[in-house]
Amino acid sequence: MKDQWNDHPTSTGTVSNPQHALNHEQKTKIAVAYGDGIGPEIMKATLRILDAAGAGLDYEEVKIGKEMYLSGHTSGIAPDAWDILRRNEVFLKGPITTPQGGGYKSLNVTIRKTLGLFANVRPCRAYTPYVSSHFPDMDLVIVRENEEDLYAGIEHQQTTEVVQCLKLVSRPGCERIIRYAFEYARANNRKKVTCMSKDNIMKHTDGLFHQVFDEVKKEYPDIESDHHIIDIGSALLADRPEQFDVVVTLNLYGDIVSDITAQIAGSVGLGGSANIGSSISMFEAIHGSAPDIAGKNIANPSGLIHGACQMLSHLGKNQVAARIQNALLRTLEDGIHTADLASEGFTRQRVGTQEFADAVIERLGQQPQHLKAIQHTGDQKPIEVKIPEFKPAQKELQGVDVFIDWYKDDRNPNTLGKQLEELAGPGLKLKMITNRGVKVYPNGFPETFCTDHWRCRFIAANDQQAVTYEHITGLLNRLHQSGLDFIKIENLYTIDGQRAYSLGQGE
Ligand code: NAD
Repeated sequence: MKDQWNDHPTSTGTVSNPQHALNHEQKTKIAVAYGDGIGPEIMKATLRILDAAGAGLDYEEVKIGKEMYLSGHTSGIAPDAWDILRRNEVFLKGPITTPQGGGYKSLNVTIRKTLGLFANVRPCRAYTPYVSSHFPDMDLVIVRENEEDLYAGIEHQQTTEVVQCLKLVSRPGCERIIRYAFEYARANNRKKVTCMSKDNIMKHTDGLFHQVFDEVKKEYPDIESDHHIIDIGSALLADRPEQFDVVVTLNLYGDIVSDITAQIAGSVGLGGSANIGSSISMFEAIHGSAPDIAGKNIANPSGLIHGACQMLSHLGKNQVAARIQNALLRTLEDGIHTADLASEGFTRQRVGTQEFADAVIERLGQQPQHLKAIQHTGDQKPIEVKIPEFKPAQKELQGVDVFIDWYKDDRNPNTLGKQLEELAGPGLKLKMITNRGVKVYPNGFPETFCTDHWRCRFIAANDQQAVTYEHITGLLNRLHQSGLDFIKIENLYTIDGQRAYSLGQGE
């Protein structure tokens, strides 16, 4: 059997396609990683199509993935590979196998965060009847924030019983992704942008996302806009996806809904994905390295072809992208299918990976006859997102939440509350204690279950006196000296006069 790691037309270093060597200076140079498993096969097929369509690209190979993991790079990428990514405008990446266990980190997450790839863009379109889906009119795009939210990966175990994951949402992060979604809608002739968040519960984090959406949408009066709470929004996406056009949402929700929409389009294997940054962007297929079918020339290259077409559009080469996509649609219509798409009614010829690529190449310049053709009238500039400069806000200290690890006296909140009231002053007084967000002191309910993790809110002892950092450090010293184990604090501020923290449930 062929060595799947090296089954591609290039070796290490800068690589040119000989067909285009003569007009080298006109080409756009991109970084290419062949990937693991089926990666080399589908990448070879994709690059052949790009070259045949006249994409005008020159390839510099970057080594990432299993080979790098096994040679001791736990992130799956060698330190010098970053230079290759940095000096190329875009990166076309084959799927990577992440080895199980052994402290290996997800290469995708590492690349996204390190290179600031803030937008994950996944078009999901049905290709019925050639690919089965209950939603023949579905044609939407999920624009997922890619760097923040719970995926910041800041987790701590704070007490015996309680672990925490920090949800970070920033204004620049919201601005960039939401503006990108509107710009994407404009550039791609899409009519509506729908925001999804859970701001009825997370009023500050998801609330910021929704607020920025409401601000930014005013700059795009030509684009319709609306908002759904993520739970009903996901249900609607799964039930009537044809009613959506562009959906913009936070990282975790976007991760989930983009898989749902790809699946109900009937085409996880056909989907492409773009990871857009302000200087570097990465393009790939949605699917993984499919080790079960690697090296057999049976994988469907369409997902990576679609990812490559997103890359061409990003480079402003919309016409070439449309040429390839329309040839691919025509190939599907003509019943030329890889094994994963083969169906009794519609498959006329079952082909391998490279033969599928040959069929697409033969149809370059042709339009689909039944499926809706991709329309691109002219090449256009890549989408650029500019975010406004921010003035530093006026912060005023109002108090402090002290988190305490405490389990004594049958976890009776009244015992802890009385002790804290004695320790609170000078300058501060105890306002309340919550357990997992629910107020348990004063006047808690005996039915409320309490863990060993207590949030104790201290505010100014009286309205006339401002809270100072000395008040807080003094409080922490007194807590420590009396044997209480404080595990973290969160300062309570007003920012530009607005309360910048949530109330406890029942406060
Ligand atoms: P997978 O997507 O590789 O495979 C799932 C199933 O779909 C398999 O049965 C496979 O044969 C089939 N399949 C996938 N792509 C296909 C294609 N192009 N044509 C035909 N059939 C196809 O998911 P998995 O098995 O969960 O993961 C395998 C490896 O890929 C894991 O190491 C995982 O970490 C990695 N992975 C990488 C990426 C990426 O690099 N972006 C994404 C997902 C998974």
